[in-house]
Amino acid sequence: MEETKQKFDVDSAAILVKDLRRTFNSGKTKSYDWRISQLESISKMIEEKEKDIFKAIKEDLAKPEFEAFAAEISMTKSSCKLALQELKQWMMPKKVETSMATYPSSAEIVSEPLGVVLVISTWNYPFLLSLDPVIGAIAAGNAVVLKPSEIAPATSSLLAKLLGQYADKSALRVVEGAVPETSALLEQKWDKIFFTGGARIGRIVMAAAAKHLTPVTLELGGKCPAVVDPNVDLEVAARRLVAGKWVANNGQACIGVDYVITTKEFAPKLIDALRSVLEEFFGKDPMKSKDRARIINSFHFKRLVNLMDDNKVSDKIVVGGRRDESKLQIAPTILLDVPEDSLIMQEEIFGPLLPIMTVERVEDSFDMINKKPKALAAYLFSDDEQIKKKFVENVSAGGMVINDTILHVTVSTLPFGGVGESGMGSYHGEYSFDCFSHKKSVLYRSFAGESPTREKDRERAQARSGN
Ligand code: NAD
Repeated sequence: MEETKQKFDVDSAAILVKDLRRTFNSGKTKSYDWRISQLESISKMIEEKEKDIFKAIKEDLAKPEFEAFAAEISMTKSSCKLALQELKQWMMPKKVETSMATYPSSAEIVSEPLGVVLVISTWNYPFLLSLDPVIGAIAAGNAVVLKPSEIAPATSSLLAKLLGQYADKSALRVVEGAVPETSALLEQKWDKIFFTGGARIGRIVMAAAAKHLTPVTLELGGKCPAVVDPNVDLEVAARRLVAGKWVANNGQACIGVDYVITTKEFAPKLIDALRSVLEEFFGKDPMKSKDRARIINSFHFKRLVNLMDDNKVSDKIVVGGRRDESKLQIAPTILLDVPEDSLIMQEEIFGPLLPIMTVERVEDSFDMINKKPKALAAYLFSDDEQIKKKFVENVSAGGMVINDTILHVTVSTLPFGGVGESGMGSYHGEYSFDCFSHKKSVLYRSFAGESPTREKDRERAQARSGN
């Protein structure tokens, strides 16, 4: 797509929306066949252009190939496959019970597409987080504009090129760009805006949407805690924590572990276990490892260095701490018992730094978590059924995993989304279809069961005609 080669302003955005609205109003995108054909094209695109996709993700983030495959390409493929398999079922009106007051009647819930929708995505999983919502929007029968992140320019430009070749241009378009282009898009009236990114921009998106009463789904972030009870298989827990912190995009994941809470007594054992798993995964010199993505850019590199060099926490580093700006790399770094009011415990870290906070009893962690804005995910490692129950009941978060991290994102039967500061709305699997559909209530009444009234009407009509 060539949209961004020319200046993209408010006028171009208005023309674009008008074009897509014309397509939507023609009814084309509503048909089952059209939806299937678009999903099949996206699926084909991923198959045929896998090498180009790997290349773009590598250029943007130096993501190891196995991670790019597992977390981006394979997940997007599965999402498309599921939609292709289930679409007929999802589109089917759902029969529901009616009330006595409406007797005799029947009722159903009809899923109708919302119209012309905008998907704004972010850079950390630039392929998956752009296409996954688009798949949901198309499955639901909408016309879509995708605005990928300018911070992952190689993937953004590849998406624009490939979707331009594979998708129906009259209903699916990509606009590349940064703040000016996104602002121009946000001035338009959309039928839904789906945004993935930080809460600060989420507020801008929601304010723009409010002007047109446009519904929004906001997939935001936050500080995801992992509580570790001493009552665990330490080796397994340590491996899963390292995977959820450093393997997953080197900490640049919205559901990556942001900080750990454990007991004072257990912390040294946990740190030793993490240190040895880190060595096993990334070698003696993790700065040379090719198995971790790099920090996305120097802005974020400096932001992270600032978090660990903050004089409130710089003497709390117990593992790592090395950095290399020329390679945009920071070693896996663990800090122990940093002050709660330090920057690193106030901001979402989004990088390879891990503070471990200690408490007297595991249950004390619930309070520490609940004092902060609600996280996108919360994790607990414990073998104690009572602790698990209390955690699920007392900790509020978008989603949870007990005895592992981040894996809930792969379960398409679970809605994925935040709560409070971590977002609103959810998607994945059928929830993606629902996210881009209006659930229209339809009540069917017949003319039966009204005979007394109808009899009277008939009598009155006869009297008027004099027969
Ligand atoms: P961001 O919020 O800065 O950018 C996201 C999008 O907003 C980009 O497409 C960008 O072009 C656009 N944008 C930036 N400034 C804008 C402005 N002033 N007006 C309009 N649009 C603008 O992204 P980020 O903060 O770098 O992304 C990281 C955040 O995203 C983290 O908080 C992370 O947790 C969150 N995240 C959430 C999910 C999720 O699924 N919930 C997934 C990935 C990342």
